[in-house]
Amino acid sequence: MGLLTGKTALITGASRGIGEAIARKFAQEGANVAFTYRSSAEKAKILENELQQYGAKAKGYQSDAASFDDAATLMQEVLKEFGTIDVLVNNAGIARDNLLLRMTEQQWDEVMNNNLKSMFNLTKQALRPMLKARSGSIINMSSIIGMRGNAGQANYAASKAGIIGFSKSVAQELGSRNIRCNVIAPGFIETDMTENLGGNNREEFLKKIPMERFGKPDEVANVALFLASDLSAYVSGQVLSVCGAMNT
Ligand code: NAP
Repeated sequence: MGLLTGKTALITGASRGIGEAIARKFAQEGANVAFTYRSSAEKAKILENELQQYGAKAKGYQSDAASFDDAATLMQEVLKEFGTIDVLVNNAGIARDNLLLRMTEQQWDEVMNNNLKSMFNLTKQALRPMLKARSGSIINMSSIIGMRGNAGQANYAASKAGIIGFSKSVAQELGSRNIRCNVIAPGFIETDMTENLGGNNREEFLKKIPMERFGKPDEVANVALFLASDLSAYVSGQVLSVCGAMNT
């Protein structure tokens, strides 16, 4: 029996990177997995097939996490197909880096809508089934940049800091209903998002990591597994950094 046997999870942004690793880990641990993507339909189909091979019920949905209406439609479809949601992982996110002097309103709005408003959209929709079940685990993907800031990422840092305040509030508001809400704050993880940083930036980041290496998506997925499972039954309102001691 897996750590998530009998549970259904909804994971946003799982066609690539950290979300994909979480979907795989959850299915391997017995969960049924609904996941979303924005445009990578082919990758999503491949993942859907892989997850089903672990014996899980699995389905990928094209759904824009930044859209309130998309989230409402998604939840209707997922509930129709899966019946309930025990675990919500708000993972979808983007970066539009620029120095503040050059940052456009569009870059600011895109990051706030995709990274922060998405949390509101999906969490609000997941509340109804979780309240009905009197149980649930919500996991929100922040970043250590949300705690430390980073030059060239004022929009990203603000969105990731907002996620922490949001999550602590949700934990307090819904604790009495046995709904937990926690945050994962990854450091530098090897995905497409960090691939685009460019050679020099990568080397600069590496110098700041005491463990002297970048993290792997699977290492974030292990922490998500802990927070999704009953192993963390009394853990709520917390931020767990997965950063090789970069954020201490
Ligand atoms: P990634 O490799 O760029 O993958 C992003 C995923 O999110 C893709 O599946 C993408 O779908 C999906 N997505 C983006 N916007 C979406 C939207 N509006 N609606 C639905 N899906 C959407 O990113 P990652 O590195 O795995 O990052 C995942 C999360 O971890 C993000 O929130 C990121 O900020 C956070 N994080 C990452 C790092 C890191 O070092 N990588 C560090 C700290 C925090 P498509 O494939 O269809 O585009």
